[in-house]
Amino acid sequence: MRRYLLANAIICLCVAFAAAAPAPSQPVSQEEALNWTRHLVPLPKKIEFVSKVEVPVSQVGIYLHSDKESLALQARKELHECLGTPPRQVPDASFILVLKIDPQESVLANLPNRDQAYRIVPMEGSSLLLVGGGPRGLYYAAKTMQQLLKAGPAGDRAQIPLVSITDWPDLEDRGFWGGDSSEHIRWMSDRKMNYDEQISTTGVDENKQCFVRYAPYKQRMIDEGPTYGINPVPVVLHLEQLGNGGVFNAYPELQGKDAKPGAICYSNPIFQDLLTQWLLLWREKPGVREVDVWMTENLGGQKSCQCEKCRKADHNVLEARVIVAAWKKALEKQPDLGLRVLTSEETEKSNPEVFAELPPEVKVWYYHSLFTYNASEKPMIRPYLVEAARKGRWIGVCTNACALVGCWQPFTGAHFMHYRMNEFVDKKLCGYLGYAVPRLHHVAFNAEAAAEWGWNAKGRSPHEFAVSWAVRRGMKDPEKFAEWSDTHGPVAWDVYGSEWPAGEKRGVPGKVADLLKQGKLSDLGYVLWEVYPTPWGDIKTVEQLDRDVAQAKRAVRLALELGDEMFIQESLAVQGYINSLKALWELKQVVTSDGVAGPKKQTAKQYFKMYVDSLDQTRKALTAWEDALPAKGGRAGIMRESVKLVDGMIGEMTAVAAELGCSPQ
Ligand SMILES: [Zn+2]
Repeated sequence: MRRYLLANAIICLCVAFAAAAPAPSQPVSQEEALNWTRHLVPLPKKIEFVSKVEVPVSQVGIYLHSDKESLALQARKELHECLGTPPRQVPDASFILVLKIDPQESVLANLPNRDQAYRIVPMEGSSLLLVGGGPRGLYYAAKTMQQLLKAGPAGDRAQIPLVSITDWPDLEDRGFWGGDSSEHIRWMSDRKMNYDEQISTTGVDENKQCFVRYAPYKQRMIDEGPTYGINPVPVVLHLEQLGNGGVFNAYPELQGKDAKPGAICYSNPIFQDLLTQWLLLWREKPGVREVDVWMTENLGGQKSCQCEKCRKADHNVLEARVIVAAWKKALEKQPDLGLRVLTSEETEKSNPEVFAELPPEVKVWYYHSLFTYNASEKPMIRPYLVEAARKGRWIGVCTNACALVGCWQPFTGAHFMHYRMNEFVDKKLCGYLGYAVPRLHHVAFNAEAAAEWGWNAKGRSPHEFAVSWAVRRGMKDPEKFAEWSDTHGPVAWDVYGSEWPAGEKRGVPGKVADLLKQGKLSDLGYVLWEVYPTPWGDIKTVEQLDRDVAQAKRAVRLALELGDEMFIQESLAVQGYINSLKALWELKQVVTSDGVAGPKKQTAKQYFKMYVDSLDQTRKALTAWEDALPAKGGRAGIMRESVKLVDGMIGEMTAVAAELGCSPQ
């Protein structure tokens, strides 16, 4: 097969190019190979450097076998852009890149996610064959080639490795939803991500006409996505939250009887008809092939529709039936319309029954605002989901790439991301739908880590990923950055995995200042109802707490040595958090519901001061961290809410200290 490929390619080359002297190849040292590899993200599954050539960029020819596929054309275009050469034939080429799509290629034919798989193979006569199992595979081969070219010297000469690569992704779909992801389509594409979702406005106007639309920044997902191999998938918002789109103005009868405002009566055929129309309206947009319908998120303890028909059945099952029926109706007009369904905390208890309603081709995003939006170090994918995936159901997960959703924090979490992505791959999930918020640039490291391990979960260690990330950013001392990442990342993970400080925003189990005073602070490692870990659910022992305190101190020192303000401030913020927890733990030992015994007052004063000083350090660092981010993107001052929360915590603890007669001097 390989011989056939080579012969085939060479015949074509003779047509396209006049004979030219091949560039002489030179050996590649181990160090060079390693450096080249570190410029690649994600790391290819199999890679071997054979030799290298150096040629004028003007003598690099790019030959594309077929120009029928837009992604193949885009692959060629991006390679020309990367070389800085015009898209033209090169008669005197001394090096040739041959681009080809061949699903039957002997190796690619047997790989998982073949459409996205690719090979890069050195050929005789100073050329490389880039072959994709599908258009996306070829596009990804070109992405890898671009990363290799960019690693070399800039200017009018290209250093090209003769490299042998066989590569394919672990997860079929890799992408983000919401935030400003739709404004980072090329960024995602360059890291071989292929999926984006945005909530759409879906509604009914005053003439009872259905409409769908996007704000301009979300529209970019549809306008740019297909060009860069990103599937744009519009979202029909959680169905109980559709009210603002005029649905109930046009059809008041759709409001569920004796139900939470917004909850829909699924026994009324009008709703199914509206959903069919919304699905079809989205499918009409160029590049849109699928729609994701988000199931009701939360009835907040209130009822679903209590009409004669609805109340007899599980409302989640009814909802699933209506979604499927609407989609099937839409299929009559658009037979290739794909459907995805996103679960929620409302559907969680009924998910197995919901899945039973969904035809096998309907893809499921598993989401639950507590179970999939957290940073706790415990498995996320429940046994019933593993079982459904094992039986062949397409299941992906919608989860946070940031530290804490709605309580923004700096988080360079290589170990966290490695742990999460490996669980998803090990449990045979098909997709990753990350939530990279508030803005992608706030979580750029974790977002890139998702691209890395969603493609190749068993490739790089957290340390090696950090080194490669630093190399790609041109940092002076990548090993030191990785050392910082290994030192700081696990501490930050313990803090955020314990929902510190986000847990302070919840009513359960209450604010730590109150709990301390009442003698009700939990023990280390305690997680209320297995979902509320605040303040130290992911810190199991005093030894772990003390180790984190020591590591945080070392991380600050390493960050100062790195000299990068962004990492200095992140380190200071996390050190403030872990030190505040250390102080809180010591306070728990001396404060009882009866107050503080006389001989212990001095100790209490010392630790009240430590708590307040530590959070004050965090408070300052959060703002300084945002200021130090390389790209602002959107409005600044996004950390204001987190700063306010920490401010409040300082005030609450200061008041308790005063009440107990233990105000720090
Ligand atoms: Zn009803």
